[in-house]
Amino acid sequence: MNITEIRIKLVHDTRDKLRGFASITLDDALVIRDLKIIEGGKGLFVAMPSRKLHDRCPGCAGKNPLRARFCNDCGRKLRDARGDADERGRVRLYADIAHPIHQSGRDLVQSRVVEAYWRELEASKKEGYVETRFDDLDYHLMDAPAEAQRVDWVD
Ligand SMILES: [Zn+2]
Repeated sequence: MNITEIRIKLVHDTRDKLRGFASITLDDALVIRDLKIIEGGKGLFVAMPSRKLHDRCPGCAGKNPLRARFCNDCGRKLRDARGDADERGRVRLYADIAHPIHQSGRDLVQSRVVEAYWRELEASKKEGYVETRFDDLDYHLMDAPAEAQRVDWVD
């Protein structure tokens, strides 16, 4: 697998653990967007793009994120432990949209994206720096803080 392009969008809000977004291009053919660069206990790591898992309210059948404590539609109190547990017994709140199959693939993505992040951060300190354009993405509309808590494959 050749990563032929990496684009980094820096996030400057340091109250949050999210340091940036990345898109990677594989073999000049396929772009994967919405990778997240997150500050973890052992340094930066890369989270693959994921979506929040939802279930339906038993009262009104409204769709709610698994973490929601009350139904968004009818306000009914929802059970605490919903959803399927992972191999370590923790509830899976997110599902990867794209992810490496092997550890070596994961290591490759991780090291190349983190390296590109540091390069972008250095470049951003220089005069005349122009932020990478992600015209097709509306990052400020994403609810990054909650997703940045997601560290299930780091340790
Ligand atoms: Zn409901």
